[in-house]
Amino acid sequence: MGKFRYVSYAQEVIFALGSLAQLSEALERFGWKKLLLCTNHSMQVRGYVDSLKSSLGQRLVATFDRVQPHVQDIQVDQVLELATQHEIDAIIGMGGGSPIGMAKAVAYTRKPSIPIIAIPTTYAGSEMTAVYGITHSRENPPRKVTVNDPKIAPRLVIYDPQLTLDLPPEMTASTGINALAHCIEALYSRTRNPISTAAATNGVHHIFNSLLRCYTHPDDVDARTKMLQGAHLAGLSLASVSMGLHHGLCHVLGGTANIPHGIANSIILPHAIRFNADVTVPQLLPAAEAMGISLNGNSPMVAMEAMAQKVFDLVGQMNLPQRLRDAGVNLKESDLPQLAQIAFQNRTVQNNPKPITEPAPIEMLLRSAW
Ligand code: NAD
Repeated sequence: MGKFRYVSYAQEVIFALGSLAQLSEALERFGWKKLLLCTNHSMQVRGYVDSLKSSLGQRLVATFDRVQPHVQDIQVDQVLELATQHEIDAIIGMGGGSPIGMAKAVAYTRKPSIPIIAIPTTYAGSEMTAVYGITHSRENPPRKVTVNDPKIAPRLVIYDPQLTLDLPPEMTASTGINALAHCIEALYSRTRNPISTAAATNGVHHIFNSLLRCYTHPDDVDARTKMLQGAHLAGLSLASVSMGLHHGLCHVLGGTANIPHGIANSIILPHAIRFNADVTVPQLLPAAEAMGISLNGNSPMVAMEAMAQKVFDLVGQMNLPQRLRDAGVNLKESDLPQLAQIAFQNRTVQNNPKPITEPAPIEMLLRSAW
């Protein structure tokens, strides 16, 4: 890593138990007066929307509370109309990567652009990045594309572990594995830099020491706090590097096969680690150590296999699907060649540290994950 170049963003990050209560004061400082909230139904049911409403008062001029997964283009148009109608000066995304992605899509499309406030309640990490994925639902099959622009990096990020205590076990597990995948792909990214590597290694450590506990004891505040810190570090590492095969494939599996993002991550990650291992072993060894894999007496490739297996086992311990056939969507084995073709054209797949020059190896990976 003798040479590096990365873009960093001006972001205020507030991390504390109960920090949602600090939002109002932060808005005063920024001078934002008319806000639109993007969120979804479960945030409403859990009372988070009401807490936000009471702290924002009249500054919250509109709420869109039915954001669907994977940022659908049709919904972006609807929220954009609301934003224009209410002349908002900032937009809030509260929830997982989908509402935060929606806030980014609206901020990006709106001219002039508006600042974003992200309040994450999962471990997906979108709050730290200047990227979102949007699904072009009018295409057949639907296709998810990513948009990257520094102006959509959330300006204010509020991490409140309290908001994650209700995160259901399956979402805890799957978005936690998503965070782990950010760290792994940041470590071997072609565009890695010293900050992303430090954040990712530390992120793996936090995640491996807290995720299972969050799954088995959802209201363990200490584990939730550590895990959210791990997710923050994962998001921070993700923000300044390009991802590779793993993330590209998960986008295709989400956008085209409609597999939830975290589930796609859980199934693919062990296979992506194995696929890349011969090229990425020097970068992944610190992560293997952070996962408690002893490097003494083990050859590096044995440590890589142990790492892939450890991720696979963690996924199994948290009762997530370990195979594509169990992903719970209408996907057939005979669809895999077409998915491999689509993935081969994916820019993120093309950024993989181990070059991929034809769809065949992707199809093989998908078959091993079937
Ligand atoms: P999501 O936002 O789609 O949420 C999934 C479900 O979890 C929803 O039903 C939601 O209501 C529920 N939920 C969220 N928080 C909850 C809580 N605290 N308590 C109870 N229920 C809760 O899922 P996600 O995995 O967070 O995000 C996935 C999306 O984000 C994908 O579209 C993915 O591509 C994108 N993403 C983007 C980035 C980026 O950097 N741009 C990073 C990661 C993920």
